[in-house]
Amino acid sequence: MKRLKGRTALVTGAASGIGRATARRLAAEGAIVIISDIQQEAGEAAAAELREEGSTATFVQHDVTSEDGWKQVIDQVVAEHGKLDILVNNAGIGDSLPIEETDMKTWDRTIAVTQTSVFLGMKAAAEALKASGNGSVINISSIFGTSGGFGVSPAYHAAKGAVRLLTKTTALHWATEGVRVNSVHPGFIDTPILDQNRDEASMGAMVGTTPMGRLGKPEEIAAAIAFLASDDAAFVTGSELYVDGGFTAR
Ligand code: NAP
Repeated sequence: MKRLKGRTALVTGAASGIGRATARRLAAEGAIVIISDIQQEAGEAAAAELREEGSTATFVQHDVTSEDGWKQVIDQVVAEHGKLDILVNNAGIGDSLPIEETDMKTWDRTIAVTQTSVFLGMKAAAEALKASGNGSVINISSIFGTSGGFGVSPAYHAAKGAVRLLTKTTALHWATEGVRVNSVHPGFIDTPILDQNRDEASMGAMVGTTPMGRLGKPEEIAAAIAFLASDDAAFVTGSELYVDGGFTAR
């Protein structure tokens, strides 16, 4: 189904994991996709892969913590494609220690990449999204944006909780401006972000607390993002969509 034909989409953190799967899904649904990531080589490869599959995709190297970087990327997208319809604020990193062991450097970096980036992205893209007439922003939060998880990773929880409410207040502000804003809350998804937690105990904890008894796939998050990006979600704004194998139903 080509629900996104003629739409232009920017996906951050799209060289890997959920972002990469999202770029592929949006492209398969007809969107022109701009893959943004801090990782140049993997980002170029992701865009090349989509072009080989017949899609229109380009890569732009972009650190989502840079306000100047955001301005440049949005200006470039509008200059090259005339508009921006879909923004997926996906790039994020996590911390892993308990609060007593979390230093300021880790806190600041995690908040900058995972939380402040979403503020910067929506601010930089506001004018272009409003001009689109079909604006849709999907901010990637987490099950850890609404639950305390395993009691560690304080910066990640704080950032993902902030993303949830930043989504809602911006959705209200743009409710009559033709821009919908929603958050997606993945459960434990099998991507490189989990590579530091592949020991038996961590995998057991993640799978064991997921009622469906398995990790999710990046493509399962991408499908939810594509729905929110499309006109099928035309009356959906300020909502939070959990794709978590039942984690938050407990
Ligand atoms: P991933 O595979 O690590 O992909 C994230 C991408 O973002 C990587 O390419 C990463 O590059 C890039 N990135 C990091 N810092 C950046 C920056 N400053 N500017 C631009 N790009 C940057 O992770 P993922 O699992 O797909 O996660 C995607 C999103 O889903 C994140 O927001 C994450 O918190 C959220 N999420 C994931 C899960 C899960 O279980 N996987 C669950 C809930 C929510 P580097 O590799 O160089 O860091």
